[in-house]
Amino acid sequence: MKFASTRDKNHIVSFQDALFQGLSPDGGLYYPIETPDLKSSFSLFDQNSSFQDIASSLIVSLLGDEIPESDSQILAKRAFPFSPELKKLNDKINILELYHGPSSAFKDFGASFLATSMEYFLNDRDQKAVILTATSGDTGSAVAKAFYDKKNIDVVILYPSGRVSPLQEKQMTTLGKNIHALEVDGSFDDCQRMVKDSFTDKELSGINLSSANSINLGRLIPQSFYYVWAVSRLKNASEVPVFCVPSGNFGNLTAGLYAKSWGLETGKFIAATNRNDVVPSYLASAIYTPRASVQTYSNAMDVGAPSNFERMQTLYNNDVSLMKKDIIGCMVSDEDTLATMKYMDEEYGYAVCPHTAVGIKAAMDRTSKESNITVLSTAHPGKFMEVYEKAVGKKPQLPASLLAVKDLDKVSRLISNSSKELKKTLLSLFS
Ligand SMILES: *Cc1c(COP(=O)(O)O)cnc(C)c1O
Repeated sequence: MKFASTRDKNHIVSFQDALFQGLSPDGGLYYPIETPDLKSSFSLFDQNSSFQDIASSLIVSLLGDEIPESDSQILAKRAFPFSPELKKLNDKINILELYHGPSSAFKDFGASFLATSMEYFLNDRDQKAVILTATSGDTGSAVAKAFYDKKNIDVVILYPSGRVSPLQEKQMTTLGKNIHALEVDGSFDDCQRMVKDSFTDKELSGINLSSANSINLGRLIPQSFYYVWAVSRLKNASEVPVFCVPSGNFGNLTAGLYAKSWGLETGKFIAATNRNDVVPSYLASAIYTPRASVQTYSNAMDVGAPSNFERMQTLYNNDVSLMKKDIIGCMVSDEDTLATMKYMDEEYGYAVCPHTAVGIKAAMDRTSKESNITVLSTAHPGKFMEVYEKAVGKKPQLPASLLAVKDLDKVSRLISNSSKELKKTLLSLFS
């Protein structure tokens, strides 16, 4: 499979190049230019196919020209020592729990595959790389866990001092080895600017800098695998499954749309957002109006200009009526988010994070029209303790990943919010 930039169809690269470049040099996002028909391999999967089996088979189908079959099994094993779980909520709604990985959020699937495949290709090329990334919390912990102890790769994480939750900070600063945490005396925007400046700084060109942000294809591709896994479990239902996806940057949803385009039997997708509803608004009005984000209780979805919208537009040839055949938009208010978290506890004794609650509310609103909806559960409720307590009136259980780091000592390096100081630090670490 080859990949092209959403801004220039003639700029075509391999998976490896897309992986290490992240963003295309023209500012576009890489997308698959081919649409393989994988129906026959999807039909072979059933209850007994493990997530690793399905991942390994898809790695060969999609990336076989760069990752041979024998290696795909090793990669799938290394990348996915964890699996999704499917829970039946009631006659019409299932929940696809994607938070059983090392940082307790679905981003583990993408981050882990990214790290494992980078390590694999670097080994082949006999090269080293340094991943430089800015985080406001969630991405940093998934990336740190995913890259921990990987060969030939160091990770430098910048985070705004005092502006990430204490537990998130612990997740990034207690690993050691090849994970370096830089605590920046400034904002998340400062961190992002400093990272950007480093990528264009000539004095740093001796260091092989790469990014691990969510637009990277290495994070997007593996997110399609769990839709295939879920359908292998939902096959005997009388109606094809409809997926409901709590969305911010729309990477998760885009991965599902790709799986459908490759022949996965699904119905429509419900794009569930909080008040940052530019995509539902686009589907309703045919006019796309990105805007500054507003803060909500489901803060990992507070995105006013979703990065993957470019990929969605490319997939549907910029035709809103085509997109509407596959996607239903639904906005859920903060009030309904909290009420749904409480309802889930009272009615089902089932704890959900605020993002998952947005998806569940959107699904419940559709059950008069659809009777086989699977909601993606994107994070463990214990990661959002304050919101959970506010909604439900009691403390959630902490996931194992957080219990393990709670009492460890943080190790970070405090730096000022200047690109110069970041450069000095990088040179002292890596040259
Ligand atoms: C990142 C994130 C989302 C949004 O996913 P996108 O792929 O950006 O749409 C939803 N929930 C949680 C918990 C997240 O961390």
